[in-house]
Amino acid sequence: MLKSATFASKASYRLRRLGRAVVDGILPPRCLSCGEMVDEPDALCGRCWGGITFFAPPWCVACGLPFPHPMGENALCAACARERRSWNRARAVLRYDKNSRRLVLGLKHGDRTHLAGAFGRWMHRAGSEVLAGADLLVPVPLHWTRLFQRRYNQAALLAQAIRSSGGPPVAADWLVRRRRTPAQGHLGPAARERNVRGAFAIRAGRSFAGKRVVIVDDVLTTGATVEECARVLKRAGAASVSVLTLARALRIGG
Ligand SMILES: [Zn+2]
Ligand SMILES: [Zn+2]
Repeated sequence: MLKSATFASKASYRLRRLGRAVVDGILPPRCLSCGEMVDEPDALCGRCWGGITFFAPPWCVACGLPFPHPMGENALCAACARERRSWNRARAVLRYDKNSRRLVLGLKHGDRTHLAGAFGRWMHRAGSEVLAGADLLVPVPLHWTRLFQRRYNQAALLAQAIRSSGGPPVAADWLVRRRRTPAQGHLGPAARERNVRGAFAIRAGRSFAGKRVVIVDDVLTTGATVEECARVLKRAGAASVSVLTLARALRIGG
């Protein structure tokens, strides 16, 4: 009796191992964006890689907007020189445009949660300046009704993946969305700002006092959502608030 039980568990162990071998080794790795076969797991094929704009210095010291030429160490872009924002610095991995949309939205709408690991590693690298010395990662929260529909919060998955790559701890659910805001894809910058006004709050019993915080999200477009989150975090006493996203539209507010 004992012997056959042991045999059964060994057999199931072997089957599980075989299953892993199939997943890890025998099936060829696929491009994260288009699904073409590639040499390495968690990679893009040459065509997708070539179409996506990855940000690199020289860039605006505040928002990370790339400059065509070196502009000096603390140079600001025109928008950052003009506007005061509640966050201190923002960084993103890649440009949000027609070439990257499928890859970026795959995490949110495509149930392609396996993308989070690769994205987290990219964000950890691209965000090294804002992650250095940071105390907490704060994913932009979903309203619970939306979380219920979608089953996961893509910003929280990214924050966990950045943590797994060596980033600071994730303050999951410290910031909450207290009202459901209409989808803002079709709204202009001013309407987006009104849309998220008062939408966020600090969970009772949590304190951001003196903390250096990095807000994590998938896409930065007008920046209205992270601005509102940053305002709430600063008011709650955060020492600094930075923003780290996978993608951003080239002009914040544009
Ligand atoms: Zn591809
Ligand atoms: Zn800037």
